[in-house]
Amino acid sequence: MEKKPFITKEQAQQMMEKYPTPFHIYDEKGIRENARKLKQAFAWNKGFKEYFAVKATPNPSILKILKEEGCGTDCSSYAELLMSEKCGFQHPNIMFSSNDTPESEFQYAKELGAIINLDDITHIDALEKACGIPETICCRFNPGGKFSISTTIMDNPGDAKYGMTREQIKEAFLRLKQLGAKEFGIHSFLASNTVSNEYYPTLAKILFRLAVELKEETGVHIGFINLSGGVGVPYTPDKEPNDILVIGEGVHKAFDEILVPAGMGDVKIFTELGRFMLAPYGHLVTKAIHEKHIYKEYIGVDACAVNLMRPAMYGAYHHITVLGKEQEPCDHTYDVTGSLCENNDKFAIDRPLPKIEMGDILVIHDTGAHGFAMGYNYNGKLKSAELLLREDGSVVEIRRAETVDDYFATLDGYWNVID
Ligand SMILES: *Cc1c(COP(=O)(O)O)cnc(C)c1O
Repeated sequence: MEKKPFITKEQAQQMMEKYPTPFHIYDEKGIRENARKLKQAFAWNKGFKEYFAVKATPNPSILKILKEEGCGTDCSSYAELLMSEKCGFQHPNIMFSSNDTPESEFQYAKELGAIINLDDITHIDALEKACGIPETICCRFNPGGKFSISTTIMDNPGDAKYGMTREQIKEAFLRLKQLGAKEFGIHSFLASNTVSNEYYPTLAKILFRLAVELKEETGVHIGFINLSGGVGVPYTPDKEPNDILVIGEGVHKAFDEILVPAGMGDVKIFTELGRFMLAPYGHLVTKAIHEKHIYKEYIGVDACAVNLMRPAMYGAYHHITVLGKEQEPCDHTYDVTGSLCENNDKFAIDRPLPKIEMGDILVIHDTGAHGFAMGYNYNGKLKSAELLLREDGSVVEIRRAETVDDYFATLDGYWNVID
């Protein structure tokens, strides 16, 4: 599918009069339409809820939009819980899917009435000691081995640090029941960024069968099944995007085949999507500031891996559009680089693009999730602003750019000594 930016060159130029590049911009209209489609896809399930994975785009303005669309939040740290609380999320609209969890975070999650999702059987004692066992509790399952869809290996849960084994989850349910838990959930996350309408339905079958077995073995009431994240987006233009309506129907079919005959038709389906909710609705906007001709052709831009880490960290592909040159032939081959003293600070390698002039504005696509959020401060680089393109076409700044004062803020007394 052709990748079109959601902003034009003229819009970008207008924004740049007020907000210097680089910046991230999010598309409110796209976010809302997509969230509504997800809701529609699971409308057959009365208790359905999407708990947006805050880590993907931890910005209160984004959380508020998703809240208006009926979403909750999925958190895995103190700061994410705090942000959810400040944005007005309350029980039962916060999920706490953490791992390696500090005691204080269990306490805070319980205080907020977040649904606690236990990553390990030993966390039962940790939770009991920290704050006691709540009535509603969820356990994370790891089936081990390899996870395949038909003949394709999707991921390797046996190597993943998350979740409990089959034996442990049964034991965990029995123990939690003994300690007073009444409402149980099952959670599992088996493959990341799947571009396949089969991922959720395949996962759902595994978890639905498990739910039926666990109900028989332990006698607990299973109230919900959390399919977690992992529904992906096509970063490359050659891939077809997931069809969430087809995915929802696939889960529906498995639900009718497995849960309904077992008398479990009241089970609520939860999701914890991050990437699918936001990635396509964010752009990193950056300007070409240098060109370099050595053994290869380089374009240096004013963004760097600090603003978007995925290419440097995973070798991830992010599509690039040169604004105003959408129709021009891609007859030049460039490495598009940032300024870090790190050779992997490249947004694109050997990428066919139109001829780039200094000052050209580049849109880096699909940065709405795990983009700004993964930012860091290497080389003393500062984090960019985040902007929101409202539905009425106006632009608001939803996070200002960092300043050097922010960068030095944690040095307190030490800084005065140097003075
Ligand atoms: C990261 C994460 C998600 C979201 O994953 P996406 O791939 O962005 O959909 C959901 N749940 C948990 C527990 C996670 O760690």
